[in-house]
Amino acid sequence: MSGDNDGRGERFLLDAMLGKLTTYLRMCGYDAAYALDRDVEADDELRRIADQEERTLVTRDTDLAARTDGAFSLSARDVETQCDELRAAGVALSLPDRPRRCGRCNGRLEPVEDGVETPDHTPDPTAGVWRCGRCNGYFWKGSHWEDVRRRLG
Ligand SMILES: [Zn+2]
Repeated sequence: MSGDNDGRGERFLLDAMLGKLTTYLRMCGYDAAYALDRDVEADDELRRIADQEERTLVTRDTDLAARTDGAFSLSARDVETQCDELRAAGVALSLPDRPRRCGRCNGRLEPVEDGVETPDHTPDPTAGVWRCGRCNGYFWKGSHWEDVRRRLG
């Protein structure tokens, strides 16, 4: 474990059809790689990445799931039902106290220190602002965070 203390050690790889679910998993604190972020669509390549990086493949392709050890096969099209399917498979889904993963790129988020200058569109750092170490995006618990919390129930 590399400094993660939230117990969310499971790592995922999601197929091209699961972009929204990828964001949800990242917001829940999981290391979730997304096929299209990697420019990968071929089944064999997905299986290779899952194997090499020890990621659980999550896919709506039943054939691919059947050929991949430990893969999660989802059937739902909407993200809320997909979350229910993952929960049924034993994946804990809830938002952590603070954002840990960048929903856009899966990078780690670090708190922005009080007094550090931030772009105009971000809230004051004292209200809780995080920055992605990979894409440099800024995050805070805004309406999107609350929306996902509601959807996760
Ligand atoms: Zn990022």
